[in-house]
Amino acid sequence: MDFRLNDEQTMFRDSVRSFAEKHLRAGALARAHDDAHPWDVSRLMAEQGLMGITIKDEDGGQGGSLMDAVIAIETVACVCPRSADVVQAGNFGAIRVLAEHGSSDQKARYLRKILRGESVITVGMTEPEAGSAVTDLTTSATPEGEGYRINGVKVFQTHAAFAEVMLTYVRFGPGVGGIGSVLIARDAPGFKQGTPSKFFNGEEWVQTYLDNVYVGPENVLLKQGGFKKQIAGFNVERIGNTARSLALGRYAYNAARDWALQRKQFGRLLCEFQGIQWKFAEMKMKLDAGQLLLYRAAVNADNGIPSAEETSIAKAFCNQAGFDCCNEAMQIMGGMGYTTQTLVEYCFRKCRGWMIAGGSLEILKNRIAESVFERTFSQRPPKA
Ligand SMILES: Cc1cc2nc3c(=O)[nH]c(=O)nc-3n(C[C@H](O)[C@H](O)[C@H](O)COP(=O)(O)OP(=O)(O)OC[C@H]3O[C@@H](n4cnc5c(N)ncnc54)[C@H](O)[C@@H]3O)c2cc1C
Repeated sequence: MDFRLNDEQTMFRDSVRSFAEKHLRAGALARAHDDAHPWDVSRLMAEQGLMGITIKDEDGGQGGSLMDAVIAIETVACVCPRSADVVQAGNFGAIRVLAEHGSSDQKARYLRKILRGESVITVGMTEPEAGSAVTDLTTSATPEGEGYRINGVKVFQTHAAFAEVMLTYVRFGPGVGGIGSVLIARDAPGFKQGTPSKFFNGEEWVQTYLDNVYVGPENVLLKQGGFKKQIAGFNVERIGNTARSLALGRYAYNAARDWALQRKQFGRLLCEFQGIQWKFAEMKMKLDAGQLLLYRAAVNADNGIPSAEETSIAKAFCNQAGFDCCNEAMQIMGGMGYTTQTLVEYCFRKCRGWMIAGGSLEILKNRIAESVFERTFSQRPPKA
């Protein structure tokens, strides 16, 4: 067993790093606090071949592996945490499900533009009454002519305020088997949005109302019975969140390390206090362990889709590890770590969100427990 990257992967990582150092390092702090989506970075990344890394050549992607995409996102994140969101949107999110299951016409209309860095797709899964219990979603798809009328409300979607298209989880019929998905363009009649609000991480989110939106057959992505495929694709999204959690934890750890090597109190460098050294030892252990779990899930991904079990373990561990490292880095940096003059507080806020988004820690642990006991545990109340 070899725990090192191979020559090709090392060369790829080095090229991503030099790209990030050249184009992203200088503006990293300002970019993190800018509300606008970094479209300039998005286009640059497209030119650099960092969009659609795992998507097939014939669909306009790079034909690489999930591990390549992980190397790209973590390398970018370690230089410019905010720019890693662009790598996520262009590789790990709903784009992956579109590339996997979309028709050639759907890909021509939506995928190509995303791969050029000129558009994003958002995933509309969560509803006001269906969060962790996502299969309780009620957004309905009622047959009309050759297509469907869509009615429902979606909340908390990343990029919802400006995404050109929404991969929308809908209900064609009852039960889990009745769930599938459609593509809804933001200019579709009946697509309405409320007043934008903000997450703690600074990202905007906005409630989306689907008010009798007509979706023709050309925009149906997965018909009923599609839920399992959607969630399998969603495990790729989770790997992106996992990689960013760990990378932002590492970013904060590196900032704190630099600080501890130059900040003096009581006439000594911070790194000379044992109380501080042990914090670094703990952080290092968590980062190293998380790295192995992340790479295991990515390397073992069959056809680019990682297993639910390895993804859950990696995400739960790295979400916690990333957050813990940011938290300790902030403590080590004292008042300076708590200001917006460094990116440590930004990394802290971002990592906190991933403990909730894309499968909360608790839901992931429920999934892991099912692997432990090799059985399912219904979360619903017992039937009378
Ligand atoms: C930063 C961010 C980005 C997001 N992006 C998107 C997006 O792009 N698209 C989208 O559709 N949604 C998105 N979401 C929504 C996210 O998927 C949901 O917030 C998440 O699934 C939890 O749902 P909820 O907020 O309704 O919490 P709830 O489901 O109400 O859960 C509340 C708490 O109870 C716990 N809990 C619930 N059920 C159980 C159980 N059975 N066992 C133990 N604990 C349980 C949860 O873990 C949580 O701690 C995003 C959320 C965040 C924070």
